Amino acid sequence: MSMADVKEPGSDVIVEIENELDLALATMRHSAAHLMAEAVQELIPEVKFAIGPAIENGFYYDMDLPRPLSPDDLASIENLMARHRDADEPFVRTEVSKADALETFKNNPYKVEILKELPDDSTITTYQQGTFLDLCKGPHVASTGEIGAFKLLSVAGAYWRGDEKRPMLQRIYGTAWPSQAELDDYLARVEEAQRRDHRRLGRDLDLFSVNDEIGPGLILWHPRGAMIRYQIEQFEQKEQLERGYQIVYTPHIASEKIYQTSGHLETYRENMYSPMSIEDVDYYLKPMNCPAHIKIYQSHVHSYRDLPIRYAELGTVYRYERSGTLHGMLRVRGFTQDDAHIFCTEEQSTDEIAAVIDLATYMAKIFGYDFKAYLATRPDKWIGDEETWARAIEKLKVALEQKEVDYKIDEGGGAFYGPKIDIKWVDALGREWTGPTVQLDFNLPQRFDINYIGEDGEKHRAVMIHRTLLGSMERFVGGLVEHYAGAFPVWLAPTQIALIPITDDQVEYCQDVADQAKQLDLRVEIFDQKERMQAKIRDAQLMKIPYMLVVGKREVENDVVAVRLRSGEDLGAMPVADFLTMAQRIVASKGLELTVKEA
Ligand SMILES: [Zn+2]
Ligand SMILES: [Zn+2]
Repeated sequence: MSMADVKEPGSDVIVEIENELDLALATMRHSAAHLMAEAVQELIPEVKFAIGPAIENGFYYDMDLPRPLSPDDLASIENLMARHRDADEPFVRTEVSKADALETFKNNPYKVEILKELPDDSTITTYQQGTFLDLCKGPHVASTGEIGAFKLLSVAGAYWRGDEKRPMLQRIYGTAWPSQAELDDYLARVEEAQRRDHRRLGRDLDLFSVNDEIGPGLILWHPRGAMIRYQIEQFEQKEQLERGYQIVYTPHIASEKIYQTSGHLETYRENMYSPMSIEDVDYYLKPMNCPAHIKIYQSHVHSYRDLPIRYAELGTVYRYERSGTLHGMLRVRGFTQDDAHIFCTEEQSTDEIAAVIDLATYMAKIFGYDFKAYLATRPDKWIGDEETWARAIEKLKVALEQKEVDYKIDEGGGAFYGPKIDIKWVDALGREWTGPTVQLDFNLPQRFDINYIGEDGEKHRAVMIHRTLLGSMERFVGGLVEHYAGAFPVWLAPTQIALIPITDDQVEYCQDVADQAKQLDLRVEIFDQKERMQAKIRDAQLMKIPYMLVVGKREVENDVVAVRLRSGEDLGAMPVADFLTMAQRIVASKGLELTVKEA
């Protein structure tokens, strides 16, 4: 039942303070937000400020302005900020009563709303630097001179309190670092991330689209994107079959009865879409695959000898996400999970968890990700008993240690119904993405009375493990686009080989080479448009096709192809059979290389 606890690149994460260094950096960045507010107020005195926290790598401030901000405004604001920083204005903290604060900020409805929510006897603090006074609990640096190098990045719309029924404010994003060198380094990383943005590459490489008439957050996979997904799914299904999983399929809708039993209608309803009525029974789009897998398990009585049972499904689920949070393929409303549920005995559960960790680390290796593991423990709200929780957490620990995986404890990060292991992929830019999850569940086995008959002939409660590896295919492939910067390894590349005839005289020869390639399951395209050879090579390179085979009169005469790589490397003339053998070996290796390194 693991949910998409997404913390992907592109989202605004309020920083988690883990140590002194984080705190110092966040304090400096939040102080930069005040410095920015001071500058905005100087430029546009009618401004009303809402909130301005430090976020990962920077800060923002939401504000109500009489006009939209332009890029020129950002430059003016930056200049004013620099002036106030150089003036080294002290941040002055003052304690005030709630009544006084309400009086001071009476012209700002946002601050008034925040104040009204505080208890009447609470101590409220304000901070002032220069002419700018803000309602804020701090902390701040001593004076503006302690704010390092900064840059304003963008302006976006943001609803007050993230609620689309409340006013739309303008949000200015900025970044701040202790030194200019760190700022420059960060900006270079941002530029690289933009170059890799899956929404941009998805369009340029013709991988996917989102269409207004179909609806936001619903992904249309174009043939090139679908080919990538198909290859991944084929590979994964084969791997799962080899590891003792059984593939199942379940429907996209299910009656309310099952979601009453599962508790989804009680605890998960806000993420589900409105029901449709069929013959007077309400049906829901499924938000999760678990209940259907349980019903398959329960279609027979199981003995301990049948266990473990592992059901895997590429299950498409639908979950409500606010339109403001949708983001390309990373945050969507319908997606396909590589979901699996393992039913086993308590004694088997450690080995089952270890086997999932093994498969997860194998996936990381195949796709070239580093990874970090987190063990998420009991949250404040939980079910079951202390002893069961302690035993379950111990099992997850033992499994991680068995597989020699380093992990951190995510204190209280588990679900109310059980602890879990979360693995984050670390991509080529060092960013963390939601990856595999292994979750123990004390809730559904009880709600559905999931049993097996033990050696003693008695009924025993089965252990249920929820597990995804790649997570959602949408998010995973979107992440891969950025990880590879669109240059997919040969086994995944939608087109692996571009055949480029120099003149029409070589088209027939190219067709013959293409037929040979297809016989070997290689994906090939002939570039026979009426264009100059250089233009065709450029087109193939833009599509990031791994191999470009240029064929002129000489190549036909010698039965060879001139091989160029998308990296720009020129391998020269190769006999057709040699090239195809090499390409086949590269595909089989699933490696990132384009040529075979001779041992
Ligand atoms: Zn599940
Ligand atoms: Zn503040």
